[in-house]
Amino acid sequence: MGPTVGPARPAGRGRARPGGSRRPPATWVGVDVGGTNVRAGAVDEDGHLLSWLSYPHRMRPGQFHAVPEAAGKALDMARLSWTDVAAVGVGIAGLVDSHAGLVIDAGNLGWHDLALGRELSRRLGVPVVIENDVCASAIAELAVLPGGPVSPWLYLSVGTGVGACVVLDTADGHPLCLNVGHLPVPGGSRLCPCGKYGCLETVASGTAFTQAAGARIAADPDHVLHSRAATITGKDVVDSALAGDALSLEVLAAAGTACGSVVANLVNMFIPAGVGLAGGMMAPGSPYLVALLDAARRDITPWMQARFELGCGRVGETAGVTGVVELARRRLGEAPVPRPEPRSAVTPEA
Ligand SMILES: [Zn+2]
Repeated sequence: MGPTVGPARPAGRGRARPGGSRRPPATWVGVDVGGTNVRAGAVDEDGHLLSWLSYPHRMRPGQFHAVPEAAGKALDMARLSWTDVAAVGVGIAGLVDSHAGLVIDAGNLGWHDLALGRELSRRLGVPVVIENDVCASAIAELAVLPGGPVSPWLYLSVGTGVGACVVLDTADGHPLCLNVGHLPVPGGSRLCPCGKYGCLETVASGTAFTQAAGARIAADPDHVLHSRAATITGKDVVDSALAGDALSLEVLAAAGTACGSVVANLVNMFIPAGVGLAGGMMAPGSPYLVALLDAARRDITPWMQARFELGCGRVGETAGVTGVVELARRRLGEAPVPRPEPRSAVTPEA
Protein backbone atom coordinates (compact mmCIF):
# COMPACT_ATOMS: atom_id res chain seq x y z
CA MET A 1 0.00 0.00 0.00
CA GLY A 2 1.28 3.48 -0.79
CA PRO A 3 1.50 6.41 1.58
CA THR A 4 -1.84 7.84 2.63
CA VAL A 5 -2.90 11.44 2.75
CA GLY A 6 -3.81 13.08 6.02
CA PRO A 7 -3.23 12.53 9.68
CA ALA A 8 -3.53 9.20 11.39
CA ARG A 9 -6.87 8.79 13.08
CA PRO A 10 -6.70 10.76 16.34
CA ALA A 11 -6.79 8.63 19.49
CA GLY A 12 -10.06 8.60 21.32
CA ARG A 13 -12.26 9.38 18.31
CA GLY A 14 -15.50 7.53 17.91
CA ARG A 15 -18.60 7.04 19.94
CA ALA A 16 -18.44 6.23 23.63
CA ARG A 17 -19.72 2.81 24.56
CA PRO A 18 -21.42 2.01 27.87
CA GLY A 19 -18.60 1.40 30.31
CA GLY A 20 -16.37 4.10 28.84
CA SER A 21 -14.59 2.29 25.96
CA ARG A 22 -14.76 3.84 22.51
CA ARG A 23 -15.73 2.20 19.27
CA PRO A 24 -13.53 3.18 16.31
CA PRO A 25 -15.25 5.51 13.86
CA ALA A 26 -16.97 3.33 11.31
CA THR A 27 -18.61 5.81 8.97
CA TRP A 28 -17.01 6.90 5.70
CA VAL A 29 -17.99 9.90 3.66
CA GLY A 30 -17.82 9.97 -0.12
CA VAL A 31 -17.92 13.14 -2.23
CA ASP A 32 -18.14 12.98 -6.02
CA VAL A 33 -17.06 16.24 -7.66
CA GLY A 34 -18.26 16.40 -11.24
CA GLY A 35 -18.10 19.19 -13.79
CA THR A 36 -21.51 20.60 -12.89
CA ASN A 37 -22.70 18.61 -9.85
CA VAL A 38 -21.56 17.67 -6.38
CA ARG A 39 -22.82 14.41 -4.90
CA ALA A 40 -22.13 13.13 -1.41
CA GLY A 41 -23.15 10.46 1.03
CA ALA A 42 -22.29 8.89 4.35
CA VAL A 43 -21.49 5.19 3.98
CA ASP A 44 -21.51 2.54 6.70
CA GLU A 45 -18.83 -0.10 7.21
CA ASP A 46 -20.71 -2.51 4.93
CA GLY A 47 -20.72 -0.03 2.07
CA HIS A 48 -24.39 0.95 2.41
CA LEU A 49 -25.43 4.57 1.92
CA LEU A 50 -26.75 6.21 5.09
CA SER A 51 -27.47 9.52 3.37
CA TRP A 52 -27.36 10.92 -0.13
CA LEU A 53 -27.43 14.35 -1.71
CA SER A 54 -26.79 15.73 -5.17
CA TYR A 55 -26.99 19.32 -6.32
CA PRO A 56 -25.72 21.53 -9.13
CA HIS A 57 -22.47 23.29 -8.33
CA ARG A 58 -19.73 24.60 -10.58
CA MET A 59 -16.27 24.75 -8.99
CA ARG A 60 -13.98 27.78 -9.35
CA PRO A 61 -10.21 27.67 -9.92
CA GLY A 62 -8.46 26.92 -6.63
CA GLN A 63 -11.71 26.92 -4.62
CA PHE A 64 -12.96 23.71 -3.07
CA HIS A 65 -15.07 24.77 -0.08
CA ALA A 66 -18.01 22.91 -1.66
CA VAL A 67 -16.27 19.60 -0.89
CA PRO A 68 -16.19 19.89 2.92
CA GLU A 69 -19.63 21.52 2.79
CA ALA A 70 -21.11 18.55 0.93
CA ALA A 71 -19.41 16.08 3.29
CA GLY A 72 -20.81 17.95 6.30
CA LYS A 73 -24.32 17.97 4.82
CA ALA A 74 -24.12 14.22 4.20
CA LEU A 75 -23.18 13.67 7.84
CA ASP A 76 -25.97 15.97 9.06
CA MET A 77 -28.51 14.08 6.97
CA ALA A 78 -27.35 10.79 8.52
CA ARG A 79 -27.49 12.41 12.02
CA LEU A 80 -23.78 11.75 12.48
CA SER A 81 -20.83 13.96 13.43
CA TRP A 82 -17.17 14.12 12.42
CA THR A 83 -16.23 12.00 15.47
CA ASP A 84 -18.04 9.11 13.72
CA VAL A 85 -15.95 9.43 10.54
CA ALA A 86 -13.05 7.10 9.74
CA ALA A 87 -12.03 8.86 6.52
CA VAL A 88 -13.30 10.74 3.49
CA GLY A 89 -13.01 9.71 -0.15
CA VAL A 90 -13.29 12.34 -2.87
CA GLY A 91 -13.77 11.52 -6.55
CA ILE A 92 -12.50 14.19 -8.94
CA ALA A 93 -13.35 14.64 -12.62
CA GLY A 94 -9.73 14.93 -13.70
CA LEU A 95 -6.24 13.50 -13.49
CA VAL A 96 -5.28 12.68 -9.91
CA ASP A 97 -2.14 11.46 -8.13
CA SER A 98 -3.95 9.56 -5.40
CA HIS A 99 -0.79 8.63 -3.48
CA ALA A 100 0.23 12.27 -3.20
CA GLY A 101 -3.34 13.59 -2.75
CA LEU A 102 -2.74 15.86 -5.72
CA VAL A 103 -5.17 16.98 -8.42
CA ILE A 104 -2.82 17.19 -11.40
CA ASP A 105 -5.28 18.56 -13.94
CA ALA A 106 -9.06 18.90 -13.77
CA GLY A 107 -9.86 21.27 -16.64
CA ASN A 108 -13.63 21.17 -16.16
CA LEU A 109 -13.19 22.20 -12.49
CA GLY A 110 -10.42 24.75 -13.13
CA TRP A 111 -8.07 22.89 -10.78
CA HIS A 112 -4.40 22.33 -11.63
CA ASP A 113 -1.63 21.06 -9.32
CA LEU A 114 -3.93 21.39 -6.32
CA ALA A 115 -2.89 19.61 -3.09
CA LEU A 116 -6.52 18.83 -2.37
CA GLY A 117 -6.02 15.72 -0.21
CA ARG A 118 -3.69 17.47 2.22
CA GLU A 119 -5.79 20.65 2.42
CA LEU A 120 -9.05 18.78 2.99
CA SER A 121 -7.48 16.52 5.59
CA ARG A 122 -6.14 19.56 7.47
CA ARG A 123 -9.57 21.20 7.47
CA LEU A 124 -11.59 18.12 8.34
CA GLY A 125 -9.18 16.42 10.76
CA VAL A 126 -9.60 12.98 9.19
CA PRO A 127 -7.67 11.09 6.48
CA VAL A 128 -8.76 12.06 2.98
CA VAL A 129 -8.19 9.97 -0.13
CA ILE A 130 -8.74 11.50 -3.56
CA GLU A 131 -9.30 9.42 -6.68
CA ASN A 132 -10.35 9.93 -10.28
CA ASP A 133 -14.17 9.93 -10.41
CA VAL A 134 -14.42 7.46 -13.30
CA CYS A 135 -12.12 4.97 -11.52
CA ALA A 136 -14.37 5.33 -8.46
CA SER A 137 -17.64 4.67 -10.26
CA ALA A 138 -16.00 1.80 -12.19
CA ILE A 139 -15.32 0.00 -8.90
CA ALA A 140 -19.00 0.33 -7.90
CA GLU A 141 -20.19 -0.88 -11.30
CA LEU A 142 -17.73 -3.78 -11.50
CA ALA A 143 -18.99 -5.06 -8.11
CA VAL A 144 -22.51 -5.56 -9.50
CA LEU A 145 -21.53 -6.98 -12.88
CA PRO A 146 -23.81 -9.97 -13.64
CA GLY A 147 -21.76 -13.11 -13.15
CA GLY A 148 -19.18 -11.28 -11.05
CA PRO A 149 -16.17 -9.08 -11.83
CA VAL A 150 -14.02 -9.79 -14.87
CA SER A 151 -10.68 -8.45 -15.97
CA PRO A 152 -9.44 -6.80 -18.00
CA TRP A 153 -12.55 -4.64 -17.82
CA LEU A 154 -12.90 -1.37 -19.71
CA TYR A 155 -15.16 1.38 -18.39
CA LEU A 156 -16.06 4.65 -20.09
CA SER A 157 -18.26 7.45 -18.77
CA VAL A 158 -19.68 10.43 -20.66
CA GLY A 159 -20.89 13.47 -18.75
CA THR A 160 -19.57 17.03 -18.71
CA GLY A 161 -16.36 15.41 -19.96
CA VAL A 162 -15.35 11.95 -21.16
CA GLY A 163 -13.40 9.65 -18.86
CA ALA A 164 -12.31 6.03 -18.93
CA CYS A 165 -10.33 3.49 -17.00
CA VAL A 166 -9.33 -0.12 -17.29
CA VAL A 167 -9.27 -2.65 -14.48
CA LEU A 168 -6.36 -4.80 -15.58
CA ASP A 169 -6.48 -7.16 -12.60
CA THR A 170 -9.34 -7.27 -10.09
CA ALA A 171 -6.95 -8.54 -7.40
CA ASP A 172 -4.89 -5.37 -7.75
CA GLY A 173 -7.85 -3.30 -6.56
CA HIS A 174 -7.11 -0.07 -8.42
CA PRO A 175 -8.25 0.80 -11.93
CA LEU A 176 -5.80 2.39 -14.32
CA CYS A 177 -7.07 5.85 -15.29
CA LEU A 178 -7.07 6.51 -19.04
CA ASN A 179 -6.85 10.12 -20.18
CA VAL A 180 -9.15 9.49 -23.14
CA GLY A 181 -10.86 12.87 -23.11
CA HIS A 182 -7.80 14.41 -24.72
CA LEU A 183 -7.18 11.88 -27.46
CA PRO A 184 -7.21 13.62 -30.84
CA VAL A 185 -10.31 12.97 -32.95
CA PRO A 186 -10.00 12.94 -36.75
CA GLY A 187 -11.48 16.17 -38.09
CA GLY A 188 -11.79 17.75 -34.65
CA SER A 189 -10.74 21.41 -34.66
CA ARG A 190 -12.26 23.08 -31.58
CA LEU A 191 -10.03 24.40 -28.80
CA CYS A 192 -10.05 22.21 -25.68
CA PRO A 193 -9.60 23.64 -22.15
CA CYS A 194 -6.36 21.60 -22.05
CA GLY A 195 -4.87 23.88 -24.73
CA LYS A 196 -4.96 21.43 -27.65
CA TYR A 197 -7.35 21.42 -30.58
CA GLY A 198 -9.68 18.59 -31.53
CA CYS A 199 -9.64 16.49 -28.34
CA LEU A 200 -12.37 13.86 -27.91
CA GLU A 201 -14.00 16.02 -25.22
CA THR A 202 -14.45 18.86 -27.72
CA VAL A 203 -16.64 16.57 -29.82
CA ALA A 204 -18.15 13.83 -27.66
CA SER A 205 -18.76 15.28 -24.18
CA GLY A 206 -22.08 16.61 -22.95
CA THR A 207 -20.60 20.10 -22.92
CA ALA A 208 -19.40 19.73 -26.52
CA PHE A 209 -22.58 18.43 -28.12
CA THR A 210 -24.67 21.02 -26.24
CA GLN A 211 -22.44 23.83 -27.55
CA ALA A 212 -22.47 22.35 -31.07
CA ALA A 213 -26.25 22.10 -31.07
CA GLY A 214 -26.59 25.62 -29.63
CA ALA A 215 -24.40 27.12 -32.35
CA ARG A 216 -26.32 25.41 -35.15
CA ILE A 217 -29.72 26.27 -33.64
CA ALA A 218 -28.63 29.92 -33.26
CA ALA A 219 -27.89 29.96 -36.98
CA ASP A 220 -31.27 28.45 -37.88
CA PRO A 221 -34.09 31.00 -37.33
CA ASP A 222 -36.70 28.37 -38.15
CA HIS A 223 -35.60 25.95 -35.46
CA VAL A 224 -38.14 25.48 -32.66
CA LEU A 225 -35.45 26.17 -30.02
CA HIS A 226 -33.98 29.19 -31.85
CA SER A 227 -35.20 31.79 -29.31
CA ARG A 228 -33.26 30.12 -26.51
CA ALA A 229 -30.29 28.78 -28.46
CA ALA A 230 -27.86 30.47 -26.05
CA THR A 231 -29.21 28.66 -23.00
CA ILE A 232 -30.12 25.19 -24.21
CA THR A 233 -29.02 22.27 -22.08
CA GLY A 234 -27.83 18.77 -22.92
CA LYS A 235 -31.24 17.48 -21.86
CA ASP A 236 -32.90 19.87 -24.37
CA VAL A 237 -30.74 18.43 -27.15
CA VAL A 238 -31.55 14.84 -26.18
CA ASP A 239 -35.28 15.54 -25.75
CA SER A 240 -35.34 17.32 -29.08
CA ALA A 241 -33.58 14.41 -30.79
CA LEU A 242 -35.98 11.89 -29.25
CA ALA A 243 -38.85 14.03 -30.59
CA GLY A 244 -37.38 13.61 -34.07
CA ASP A 245 -35.49 16.88 -34.58
CA ALA A 246 -33.00 16.20 -37.36
CA LEU A 247 -30.42 18.78 -36.25
CA SER A 248 -30.25 17.39 -32.68
CA LEU A 249 -30.10 13.82 -33.97
CA GLU A 250 -27.21 14.76 -36.25
CA VAL A 251 -25.26 16.46 -33.45
CA LEU A 252 -25.73 13.53 -31.06
CA ALA A 253 -24.83 11.03 -33.77
CA ALA A 254 -21.56 12.87 -34.49
CA ALA A 255 -20.69 12.92 -30.79
CA GLY A 256 -21.61 9.26 -30.26
CA THR A 257 -19.69 8.19 -33.38
CA ALA A 258 -16.50 9.92 -32.20
CA CYS A 259 -16.84 8.28 -28.80
CA GLY A 260 -17.56 4.86 -30.35
CA SER A 261 -14.38 4.99 -32.41
CA VAL A 262 -12.37 5.65 -29.27
CA VAL A 263 -14.15 2.80 -27.45
CA ALA A 264 -13.21 0.54 -30.36
CA ASN A 265 -9.59 1.63 -30.20
CA LEU A 266 -9.49 0.94 -26.46
CA VAL A 267 -11.06 -2.49 -27.02
CA ASN A 268 -8.52 -3.24 -29.75
CA MET A 269 -5.75 -2.14 -27.39
CA PHE A 270 -6.74 -3.79 -24.10
CA ILE A 271 -8.73 -6.80 -25.41
CA PRO A 272 -11.11 -6.61 -22.44
CA ALA A 273 -13.40 -9.38 -21.22
CA GLY A 274 -16.14 -6.76 -20.86
CA VAL A 275 -16.94 -3.10 -21.41
CA GLY A 276 -19.06 -0.87 -19.17
CA LEU A 277 -20.58 2.37 -20.46
CA ALA A 278 -21.98 4.95 -18.05
CA GLY A 279 -23.43 8.44 -17.97
CA GLY A 280 -26.68 10.06 -18.94
CA MET A 281 -26.20 9.29 -22.65
CA MET A 282 -25.99 5.53 -22.11
CA ALA A 283 -29.71 4.79 -21.83
CA PRO A 284 -31.39 2.29 -24.15
CA GLY A 285 -32.59 4.04 -27.28
CA SER A 286 -30.39 7.11 -26.74
CA PRO A 287 -29.32 8.45 -30.16
CA TYR A 288 -25.83 9.00 -28.71
CA LEU A 289 -25.59 5.37 -27.57
CA VAL A 290 -26.95 4.02 -30.85
CA ALA A 291 -24.27 5.95 -32.79
CA LEU A 292 -21.58 4.92 -30.30
CA LEU A 293 -22.41 1.23 -30.66
CA ASP A 294 -22.56 1.46 -34.46
CA ALA A 295 -19.11 3.07 -34.60
CA ALA A 296 -17.64 0.70 -32.03
CA ARG A 297 -18.91 -2.35 -33.92
CA ARG A 298 -17.53 -0.89 -37.16
CA ASP A 299 -14.07 -0.25 -35.74
CA ILE A 300 -13.50 -3.19 -33.38
CA THR A 301 -11.27 -5.87 -34.88
CA PRO A 302 -13.69 -8.36 -36.51
CA TRP A 303 -12.59 -11.47 -34.60
CA MET A 304 -13.28 -9.67 -31.31
CA GLN A 305 -16.71 -8.28 -32.10
CA ALA A 306 -18.77 -11.15 -30.67
CA ARG A 307 -16.37 -12.09 -27.93
CA PHE A 308 -16.82 -9.59 -25.15
CA GLU A 309 -19.80 -8.17 -23.28
CA LEU A 310 -20.70 -4.51 -23.66
CA GLY A 311 -23.17 -3.24 -21.10
CA CYS A 312 -24.58 -0.03 -19.61
CA GLY A 313 -24.11 1.14 -16.03
CA ARG A 314 -26.46 -0.34 -13.42
CA VAL A 315 -25.67 1.55 -10.22
CA GLY A 316 -26.74 5.02 -11.35
CA GLU A 317 -25.56 8.33 -9.95
CA THR A 318 -24.56 6.97 -6.51
CA ALA A 319 -21.72 4.93 -8.10
CA GLY A 320 -19.15 7.73 -7.76
CA VAL A 321 -19.79 8.13 -4.01
CA THR A 322 -19.91 4.46 -3.00
CA GLY A 323 -17.03 3.67 -5.36
CA VAL A 324 -14.70 6.36 -4.01
CA VAL A 325 -15.38 5.19 -0.46
CA GLU A 326 -14.49 1.63 -1.48
CA LEU A 327 -11.25 2.83 -3.14
CA ALA A 328 -10.42 4.94 -0.07
CA ARG A 329 -11.00 1.93 2.20
CA ARG A 330 -8.65 -0.16 0.05
CA ARG A 331 -6.01 2.55 -0.07
CA LEU A 332 -6.14 2.99 3.71
CA GLY A 333 -5.93 -0.78 4.12
CA GLU A 334 -9.33 -1.27 5.73
CA ALA A 335 -11.00 -3.27 2.99
CA PRO A 336 -9.78 -6.49 1.41
CA VAL A 337 -9.55 -6.40 -2.35
CA PRO A 338 -12.05 -8.91 -3.78
CA ARG A 339 -10.38 -11.90 -5.37
CA PRO A 340 -12.96 -13.39 -7.70
CA GLU A 341 -12.67 -16.71 -9.42
CA PRO A 342 -10.61 -16.00 -12.53
CA ARG A 343 -12.69 -15.73 -15.70
CA SER A 344 -10.57 -15.88 -18.76
CA ALA A 345 -10.22 -12.72 -20.76
CA VAL A 346 -10.70 -12.82 -24.50
CA THR A 347 -7.45 -13.85 -26.12
CA PRO A 348 -6.44 -13.37 -29.72
CA GLU A 349 -6.79 -16.32 -32.01
CA ALA A 350 -3.53 -17.84 -33.12
ZN1 LIG B 1 -7.92 18.41 -24.46
